[in-house]
Amino acid sequence: MPVLVRIGPVIAACCADIARHADRLNRLDGAIGDGDHGTNMQRGCEALLAESQRLEALPLAQSLAEAGRILVMTIGGAAGPLYGTLLMELGRAMSETSGTDDFPTAFAHAVNAVARRGKSGTGDKTLLDVLFPLSDLLAADNKFETTPAKVAALAEMTVAMRARRGRASFLGERSIGHMDPGAASCALLVAAVCREING
Ligand code: ADP
Ligand code: MG
Ligand code: MG
Repeated sequence: MPVLVRIGPVIAACCADIARHADRLNRLDGAIGDGDHGTNMQRGCEALLAESQRLEALPLAQSLAEAGRILVMTIGGAAGPLYGTLLMELGRAMSETSGTDDFPTAFAHAVNAVARRGKSGTGDKTLLDVLFPLSDLLAADNKFETTPAKVAALAEMTVAMRARRGRASFLGERSIGHMDPGAASCALLVAAVCREING
C-alpha cells in the first residue's frame, strides 16, 4: 500500500500537523531538553513542503531518500540526522526491493539504521520507542486505521521512562514524568501519514 502513496499530500499533512503542535513540542522539549524540538521539526517540514513538487516527480523510493537528505540539513539538532536516516534508509531499502510486501522489511531496516545512528534502543525514552513497536506492528500486518491511536499510546508510554540518550539523559531521574518530544513528534507524523494513506 505505501508504495502507491503520493508524497506531496503526505508532506502537506505532516507539515500542517507539526505546525499545529509546534508549541506543544517546544514545551515538551523545554521540560527535559532545550525547548527547540517543535521549531526544529517545523523548519524541516517547511523545507520539505518547499521541495514538494520536485519530490513528487521522483519515484517514491528516491523521493523518500531525497526527503531524508533535506531533513538532515534543515531539522538540525539530534532529531535531524535521526529522521533523515529513517527516510534515507527507507528509500534505499525500498529501491532495492519491489512491491508492497517488502515495506515492513524496508521499514525495519530503516529503524535499525536510526538505532545505530543514535546508539540507542527501546526504553531509552526517544523516538525509537515509537518506531520499534511500529515496525513490529507493520510486520504483523497491522491495519493503518488503528495505527494513529497505537502510536499515541506509545508516545504516552515514554512519560514513565528515564532518558538514557540525548539531552534529556542529563536529567537522569528527573526526566521521568515527561513525554519525550521526539516520541511525540514521531507519533504525530505517523498519524498524519496514516490518515493520508487511509484517505
Ligand atoms: P536537540 O536535542 O539537539 O535540541 P531536538 O530537540 O530536535 O534536538 O530532538 C530531541 C529528540 O531527539 C529527543 O526527544 C529524542 O527523541 C531524540 N534523540 C536525541 N538523541 C537521541 C539518540 N541518541 N537516539 C535516538 N533519539 C534521540
Ligand atoms: Mg531540543
Ligand atoms: Mg537543540
